[in-house]
Amino acid sequence: MSRKVRIAFARIAQESNALSPVVSTLADFRRTHFLTGTELLDAVMPDGEEVKGFLKNAEISGFVKAALAHELDVEFVPLFSAWAVPGGPLAAEDHDWFRAELRKGLADAGPLDGVYLSVHGSMNVVGNPEPEADYFADVRSVIGDETPFAVTMDLHANLSSAKVDPLTILCAYQTNPHRDHAGTGARAGKLLLDTLAQLATPVHAWRSLPMVIGGGMTMDFLPPMLGIFRAMKRWERHPKVLSCSMFMSHLWLDQREIGWATYVITDDDPALAAEVAEDLADRCWDVRHSQPPTFPNAAEAIEKVRKMRLRRKLGTITMCDASDVVGAGAPGDSTHLLRAILADGQDMTWFFPMRDPEALAQLATQAVGSAVTLEIGGKLDPARSTPVPVSGTLVGFEETESFGQVATLDLGHVKMVVTEGANIAMKPEFYRDRGLRIWDADVCVVKSFFPFHLYFLPYARSSVYVTTTGTTDFDMWRDHEYARPTWPKDNPSSWRPADRDRRGVAG
Ligand SMILES: [Zn+2]
Repeated sequence: MSRKVRIAFARIAQESNALSPVVSTLADFRRTHFLTGTELLDAVMPDGEEVKGFLKNAEISGFVKAALAHELDVEFVPLFSAWAVPGGPLAAEDHDWFRAELRKGLADAGPLDGVYLSVHGSMNVVGNPEPEADYFADVRSVIGDETPFAVTMDLHANLSSAKVDPLTILCAYQTNPHRDHAGTGARAGKLLLDTLAQLATPVHAWRSLPMVIGGGMTMDFLPPMLGIFRAMKRWERHPKVLSCSMFMSHLWLDQREIGWATYVITDDDPALAAEVAEDLADRCWDVRHSQPPTFPNAAEAIEKVRKMRLRRKLGTITMCDASDVVGAGAPGDSTHLLRAILADGQDMTWFFPMRDPEALAQLATQAVGSAVTLEIGGKLDPARSTPVPVSGTLVGFEETESFGQVATLDLGHVKMVVTEGANIAMKPEFYRDRGLRIWDADVCVVKSFFPFHLYFLPYARSSVYVTTTGTTDFDMWRDHEYARPTWPKDNPSSWRPADRDRRGVAG
């Protein structure tokens, strides 16, 4: 009979947008996903649902599946799993709460052979740009330096020595938009178990690039990134290369040290790890000139959908406000697009999402069916947009698990769903559950960069991205202060000096 190994696991995951003034709290995690103990274990076992309403299988169930398939006999110690919709930096006291919970969970777990932690890798805490480094240090403080410690991250994570050094194994998504949450967990799981079974001796190398934008649309299945993802897969077929990760960073962090990175694990071959990490870094550097697309402004976008007569008739058009993408941490209360639609979109029916807790407090006192007049939006991030006066009918009001209070307003050509909590508005259900028929909409506004395409597939005949002004604008690098010359704000001739500097390596 094989040896039994005990592995504890936990998740603390949020992608933060440091430009958003809306502080995230534990309540945001509890609204999205928060499980502990046996409830968590049930959710990540093969017939469970890991993140209800979002993903049946994510990183932890992938990890568990790989561990169950391994020759070692595994005993799982589930700690907790917390995942919030992207948003502003987490409140400092809630970060402290997570740290205490993690340390206590590990200390109470008894002897452990390994630990697995699922994080985003670009979380910010108010006044602390590297909270995940604290979690990793906390894990090490309990389990010591020798116990294998595996972490998975989003490929929009921002790496640093403080994040990389404590880890035995780091694996990131290899798809964008992300479709391999479970596969990433499984890679980390197999590697951790192989390490415990002494089938592998993971050693790693990482490289960083003074570059925050590049790779065009950054999709894994489109050039130019397609070539890099293929190169990673080719390297992973090398018998000594155990895992390749590539990080396209995340623009909107309160941090001077931001940039793309590569990270490679080999089986006891540090020189090969360095060679592969450098090869991938060179490939990333080569695609820096390929910039993301620019989008039409609100007036141009409205005109664009106006011309899509047949497509509107056959279904709906999805419109992403690329400046206020809640899926990338924006507040979701921008009024720039709304103003344009109210003024110039009367010939079409629009479904529009808005986050406005203050308006809900006011609407809660009104009877459903009554006429209402109020100022909507522009309150959470008043520096970037201002409230808009609207009049119409309150057609629905409810308490929900995911979004808190939700009101539905009929403003004539705009049917608006107002939420208390953050909402990405990426699924048709968001509107359908409020009694709005997707087929009735000429345009459904969403606050998601990519995933909405998949969910709206049965309805959407086209999609339009629009740029207004907000916390998820791609050109935010113009105002950002970087630690060293960084592309595209500056034009360094090589990535190597900045890399050595950022990793603290003598050059
Ligand atoms: Zn991501």
